[in-house]
Amino acid sequence: ADSAMAAVKRAGRRQVRRYQPHDAATERFQLLARDLSLALTREELSLHFQPVFRLHDLRPVKAEALLRWTHPQLGPVSPGEFIPVAERVGLIAPIGAWVLREACRAALPWADVTVSVNVSAVQLLQAEFPQVVQQALRDSGLDPCRLELELTETASLYEDDRAARTLQDLRDVGVGLSIDDFGSGYSNLARLRSLPITGVKLDRSCTVDLTGGDGESFARALLSAVLGLTQHLPLDLTAEGVESAAHLAVLRELNCPLGQGHGLSRPLDAEEFMTLLRAPAPSAVAVGAAAC
Ligand code: C2E
Ligand code: MG
Ligand code: MG
Ligand code: MG
Repeated sequence: ADSAMAAVKRAGRRQVRRYQPHDAATERFQLLARDLSLALTREELSLHFQPVFRLHDLRPVKAEALLRWTHPQLGPVSPGEFIPVAERVGLIAPIGAWVLREACRAALPWADVTVSVNVSAVQLLQAEFPQVVQQALRDSGLDPCRLELELTETASLYEDDRAARTLQDLRDVGVGLSIDDFGSGYSNLARLRSLPITGVKLDRSCTVDLTGGDGESFARALLSAVLGLTQHLPLDLTAEGVESAAHLAVLRELNCPLGQGHGLSRPLDAEEFMTLLRAPAPSAVAVGAAAC
């Protein structure tokens, strides 16, 4: 009788969880999902641009477009929180299309500097995605080779036929393709060769370990291995999370070509980024120069 009672209680708890989700996380999710659908029309979304520097001379050669949402009551909500919501409620397509249009438009006056746009796996699997990208390029007049897409490593990136065709279509028109956050989970060195990509971004967890602490010698070995491979293929390698002069020194010593991080520059608004581009080369990197 006891265990029957326990089973009834367990079932009851399961039902409560399934049918009456009233915990804080669920409430937050529902609030964000509802308001995110209005964010586009209320013009609450904007893009910031984080410069990517060529490490030997600290020239900005790319900028990563990072989505910002200022909620009228909550204030800034991080993309790490609202992008997964957008993916789950079917809003990633319109939001992603807006990001592509805005990023291409903003990059038009950047001379030869490339703009990098984050693309979620959900977008990549949508049949119309290559057209969405090409429409953004046509509307802005941006040269396709000045647009790069950052792709997160997921199983579908390697295994889905549609994703594979999409990547090849985009490469064929000249768009750059990078694997984002490489070394943070799913990474497969050998498979880099099987994708039509042009770059790799090394996750900041790998950069953090480069200086001090137990993981230092392993982190250096890992970076050397990835560098060897990316030079061989060849692919552009960007180290993410360059936060200190010590990080910069190690990356330069090992000949890592590109870097991005708070020690070099925080994400900037479009106007600030234009100012950075107009500044003379080394002094352009106020924070980086100070950190050196
Ligand atoms: P991500 O693509 O890996 O972007 C880099 C993130 O690291 C950004 O966070 C950036 O502000 C942060 N960051 C840059 N330098 C440093 C540093 O030195 N130290 C530390 N601790 N962090 C640094 P953010 O802007 O919060 O974006 C988080 C993630 O949200 C991005 O990670 C990306 O996966 C996603 N995301 C952002 N914008 C978009 C978008 O337009 N579309 C999609 N699908 N995802 C986006
Ligand atoms: Mg990225
Ligand atoms: Mg990244
Ligand atoms: Mg990251």
